[in-house]
Amino acid sequence: MNYVITPPPAVAVPVVAAAGGGLFPVRRIYCVGRNYAEHAQEMGFTGREPPFFFLKPADAIVAVPEGETGVIDYPPLTANFHHEIELVVAIGTGGRDIPAARAAEHIWGYGTGLDMTRRDLQGEMKKQGRPWSIGKGFDQSAPISPLVPKARTGELLKGAITLAVNGQLRQKGDLSELIWSVNETIEQLSRAWTLQPGDLVFTGTPAGVGAVVRGDVMEGAIAGLPTLRVQVR
Ligand code: MN
Repeated sequence: MNYVITPPPAVAVPVVAAAGGGLFPVRRIYCVGRNYAEHAQEMGFTGREPPFFFLKPADAIVAVPEGETGVIDYPPLTANFHHEIELVVAIGTGGRDIPAARAAEHIWGYGTGLDMTRRDLQGEMKKQGRPWSIGKGFDQSAPISPLVPKARTGELLKGAITLAVNGQLRQKGDLSELIWSVNETIEQLSRAWTLQPGDLVFTGTPAGVGAVVRGDVMEGAIAGLPTLRVQVR
């Protein structure tokens, strides 16, 4: 059977050349909310509440090639466009009801990502008890670096995660400070959805989120992964 309209292009994230290159095809983007204690506090929450999830559409990905500065457009409808630097986990082997102790076997690799957020719209939706999609799942809301296979990095359990805007440090944390570890996140996610190869998980952001404006250059860094550089147009 022929498609009745042209099918959309497949979404994929490049793998670092040092690991042989190639493309990682993206199926879904799962995101974890409030997963670093200090960020939860800056959002007005305390304590270890159960993890919660939202999704972005796969085509929100902006894959920034190695060594380049990506460009995203300042999105419509917002006056408070926020950066959230996050460790991104790429799922290579699917499954459901995956125990945390086996979760690492399902990880293909890692990348440095930005969960860009229209904070004013998200806040309005929160207040009204409505879905976050307009605040989180908009076009170009998921810039990401090339991926590095876990076979090269080992399991990423600690290491600095930072974001600078125009050279000034804004966000700073350590992967060891995740409230719900990557393995626990995979356990919880796989109870709610059957994970599949190609799924990406944005694991949450450390404290220091804030606004960017047109012209700003964000530089996100996670120890052991490619730096992600993105300019807002
Ligand atoms: Mn986030």
